[in-house]
Amino acid sequence: MSSTSTIAIIGGGWAGLSAATRLADSGAKVMLFERARGLGGRMGSFYDPRFDEWLDNGNHLFIGAYRSARDLLHIWGADEGLRFEPHLHLPWMSGDGKIYDFRLKAGRIGSALAVLGFKGLTVRDRWRAARGFGALQRAALNLPALEPTVADYLARFGLKTDGCNGLFEALTLAVMNAAPSIAGLYPLARAVKTGLLSGAADGGLGFPLKPFKQLYIDAAAAYLAAHNVDIHLNNPVESLKIDNHNRLVGIVSQGAAYTVDAVISTLQPVDLLTWLPARVRTDPFFNRLNKLKYSPIIAVHLVFDRPVIKERFGFFAGGHRLHWIFGRGEPEAGGWSKISTIFSYAFELYGRSMSDIVAGALDELRRRLPQERSFRVLHSRAVVNRRATVILEPGSDSLRLPVETPVKGLFLAGDWTATGLPATVESAARSGTIAAEAARSLVMRDERCQA
Ligand SMILES: Cc1cc2nc3c(=O)[nH]c(=O)nc-3n(C[C@H](O)[C@H](O)[C@H](O)COP(=O)(O)OP(=O)(O)OC[C@H]3O[C@@H](n4cnc5c(N)ncnc54)[C@H](O)[C@@H]3O)c2cc1C
Repeated sequence: MSSTSTIAIIGGGWAGLSAATRLADSGAKVMLFERARGLGGRMGSFYDPRFDEWLDNGNHLFIGAYRSARDLLHIWGADEGLRFEPHLHLPWMSGDGKIYDFRLKAGRIGSALAVLGFKGLTVRDRWRAARGFGALQRAALNLPALEPTVADYLARFGLKTDGCNGLFEALTLAVMNAAPSIAGLYPLARAVKTGLLSGAADGGLGFPLKPFKQLYIDAAAAYLAAHNVDIHLNNPVESLKIDNHNRLVGIVSQGAAYTVDAVISTLQPVDLLTWLPARVRTDPFFNRLNKLKYSPIIAVHLVFDRPVIKERFGFFAGGHRLHWIFGRGEPEAGGWSKISTIFSYAFELYGRSMSDIVAGALDELRRRLPQERSFRVLHSRAVVNRRATVILEPGSDSLRLPVETPVKGLFLAGDWTATGLPATVESAARSGTIAAEAARSLVMRDERCQA
């Protein structure tokens, strides 16, 4: 495409980076505006001088089925920093300090056998859990008005909130950042069908081996700069200019006005609503975003005087202060002394002081890792991600907006848009690609009309 148009992308998270990458070298002038000092958005890093490390705002997991996100990593030359396991393997850290390995195999029979052989559950719960996985794979997804929560759906198959429900809690927290009693069934069931249980390579977990800055942010920035994308960091876009024909004509950032032919906004709904001009935001198309709610995730980064875990990753079944534990970087002899913890759907801790949050995580670690109780903490830091993801409750699919909007020239992307996927990196990456395609078609059409 050879173009004389200008396309502005607002936001430098996965959705914005995806859109910019797809539009790079398109011939159009592409500008990316990011409010923060660095790229990455909700999958970002910051330098902490006490740790002398780049720390992430919170650990992320990929799965094999993240095709759009993995394709981008490949384009940026950043895919070697992600280690994939061939199958889903979840070290299950039970309350009694024991670790049970849960290894999920692809397909209905493979997953049923994996659940039946999982020693972390009683034999009775294994049977019930196997039925639950089968039920998720069979779930009909075409009755939006009747969407149940994950918990209500599983209750139909005799699954209650004890024992085997821990497996579904892990799954729902990981994929939806919500408790099974809150999360809507459909995005989870779609992720299970198309990802986790659809085939061996698709279901495997991918672990970043480096901080996000070194994993992909620097590589993406270098790729975009080399492909003529104009990146403006520390440059919030403050307003849009929309003419009387409801056509977007420009943006304003830090007092400077830019004339543009199309804008791709990747803002979270709450930011989008405060940023749109009043007459646009009250349009029912946008106004429904007011109904979306958000779920926090809290990360705690720690450095100990000795290795405290031997596994790179584990799930704390029934955890009250943390759900996930990760070793940072490569292990030393004996395991990891640098670890990070994640508490998903973290309302229980929300509003507490940072020292309370760290103390809670340490308390849980001492109870779960009894042999390591005598560890000494050298450094600690909590990161509260207030609006980590939208909560996809039953019916939320109808609140997620498509790429095209009633404002001509304004396109939407972001993990929360109507991709059908849970609010993940993959959803963000995919939405950015779709929005880039739509913006490109519009400016090409307009240029043809003008010619
Ligand atoms: C702690 C944590 C753990 C997570 N774990 C996982 C996981 O394991 N797997 C997974 O797939 N997903 C996970 N997620 C979700 C994942 O991070 C998001 O789905 C994804 O990063 C969203 O990308 P995005 O581009 O849609 O939005 P964002 O990353 O939020 O990007 C939007 C960008 O817009 C910028 N912006 C806002 N207003 C303006 C403005 N006015 N002008 C310019 N720029 C502006 C923001 O600064 C931001 O950089 C996790 C999220 C968190 C917080």
